[in-house]
Amino acid sequence: MKYSGIGASAGIAIYPVYKLIEVDLTIEQQSITDVKNEVARLENAIKTTSKELQTIREQTAISMDEEHAMIFDAHIQIAQDPEIMRQVQEKIEEEHVNAEYAYDHVCQMFIAMFEGMDNEYFQERALDVKDVRRRVIAHLLDVPLNDPSLINEKVIVVAHDLTPSDTAQLNKTYVKGFITNIGGRTSHSAIMARSLEIPAIVGTKHITDEVNDGDLVILDGLTGTVIIRPTDVEIEEYRAKQEHYEKQVAIWSKFVNKPSVSKDGKHVEIAANIGSPDDLDAVKKYGAEGVGLYRTEFLYMNNDNFPTEMEQYKAYKAVLEALPNKKVIIRTLDIGGDKHLDYLPMDAELNPFLGHRALRLCLERTDIFKTQLRALLRASIHGDLHIMFPMVATLNEVRQAKAVLETCKAELHAEGIACKDDVKVGIMVEIPAVAILADQFAKEVDFFSIGTNDLIQYSFAADRMNQKVSYLYQPYNPSLLRLIKMVIDASHEAGIWTGMCGEMAGDKLAAPILLGLGLDEFSMSATSILQTRYIFSELTYSEMKAMAETCLTLDSHESVQEFVEKTIKGESK
Ligand code: PEP
Ligand code: MG
Repeated sequence: MKYSGIGASAGIAIYPVYKLIEVDLTIEQQSITDVKNEVARLENAIKTTSKELQTIREQTAISMDEEHAMIFDAHIQIAQDPEIMRQVQEKIEEEHVNAEYAYDHVCQMFIAMFEGMDNEYFQERALDVKDVRRRVIAHLLDVPLNDPSLINEKVIVVAHDLTPSDTAQLNKTYVKGFITNIGGRTSHSAIMARSLEIPAIVGTKHITDEVNDGDLVILDGLTGTVIIRPTDVEIEEYRAKQEHYEKQVAIWSKFVNKPSVSKDGKHVEIAANIGSPDDLDAVKKYGAEGVGLYRTEFLYMNNDNFPTEMEQYKAYKAVLEALPNKKVIIRTLDIGGDKHLDYLPMDAELNPFLGHRALRLCLERTDIFKTQLRALLRASIHGDLHIMFPMVATLNEVRQAKAVLETCKAELHAEGIACKDDVKVGIMVEIPAVAILADQFAKEVDFFSIGTNDLIQYSFAADRMNQKVSYLYQPYNPSLLRLIKMVIDASHEAGIWTGMCGEMAGDKLAAPILLGLGLDEFSMSATSILQTRYIFSELTYSEMKAMAETCLTLDSHESVQEFVEKTIKGESK
């Protein structure tokens, strides 16, 4: 049985499931008479929690690093916080209630207060208090918490969610991967999985309902696929995939500090796609030459309300400052389709991917749009910022978006706030109408970036979320290749450049065709960079050009795939 989620950390693992089940920490209010005893119980629970956190801290410093270990210094501080302690004690003494009830009450107040603050730092503190609260209450109730550090067999952990302390306790020797119901690529546990370099899939929605302890599963973090109780044939197929992947990783790792060049020295830019400043570690680790797509919607999705100008400015500045002298393309809000904001009610639509989304929405809600553009302009002084508009369909939309940008510039100037006057502006080419009219669009912007995830769904009229039509995701189809060629050629004739930030850019067969078609920049998930650099190093530019030309004359996705596979194998002998 196949299940899919978000591939949060690359790699393949085939092991039995270890289900981390949430324990019941229901608290009942009780009247007590022995106040002293209740306070003593509380002090004991705090002491045990602190000791336990100290052990986790030490384990984390060994299994990960000092930076992650410091998370638990913050937890110890919360556990021993004198203000929390004072308020809990006061509640026990004045209201004669049990310690767990009083402790929970005080923690919930702090959690609500932190969550109510419009600031990422305090939002994270709320999570820390929740984590500590759970531990102290478990000790007070004498309920053993699921302890991932006790795992001593090779397993794949399956859980509804993993807290940072759960993730930090995962011992890489035994925990070979994890799968969760909730979370996105930028959730805490996903970020930690990438640091631990164990494969992980998040956001599967209901995986905990589908598996039992001990069930064998295949976890493919490369594609976000989970196979539950696989057949022998599937196991064999994935073992081969896994072996192949590991061999490849060893070869690719040699390309970290090498330039991205073809066998005969043609340089090409390989940048990374990111969803938040947290992804910068991977950008550096894999030697990306810049950021070709920063999907800013995650900044909005990980929030309870629209992020403020200052919050956004800080995130954009962090990325620009981390990559001095490197191009950073930040895309304006691309919400709608499969991406929703809980705090932005949208009308139900029959075809949300064809609906009121991305730039269309921003041009209507200029209040939201202007906040983002102002934050971007303010951040522009910190690096080589390029602003990119998503889901453009007409020239008029581009002109309107540029006009709003100019208004924001004028406002900032009038307010005496610094920003660059000549920030480069580009568009995503993800709607066929734009690809066909690319020569006209090229007069309006500084660059194009082809978004093939959407361009393919719109070209083949196949919903990218619908499993049944997934065979129509055809990146090698000559009709798509011809469309891409039109865009690249039109941009070059107008003296601008074209990049690609859809998944196709990091596809091992598509990348050499694209280079052959003249694509100037490739942007992909950081973990695909070394593989792509390796592929380019194996072929000459003229070989890739000749290969691309032949592909344009073929008749189907399959025939291109077969031809490229054969050609690459032949060349790399
Ligand atoms: C795309 O459509 O190719 C793209 C990069 O944007 P997203 O996947 O965020 O829609
Ligand atoms: Mg898109």
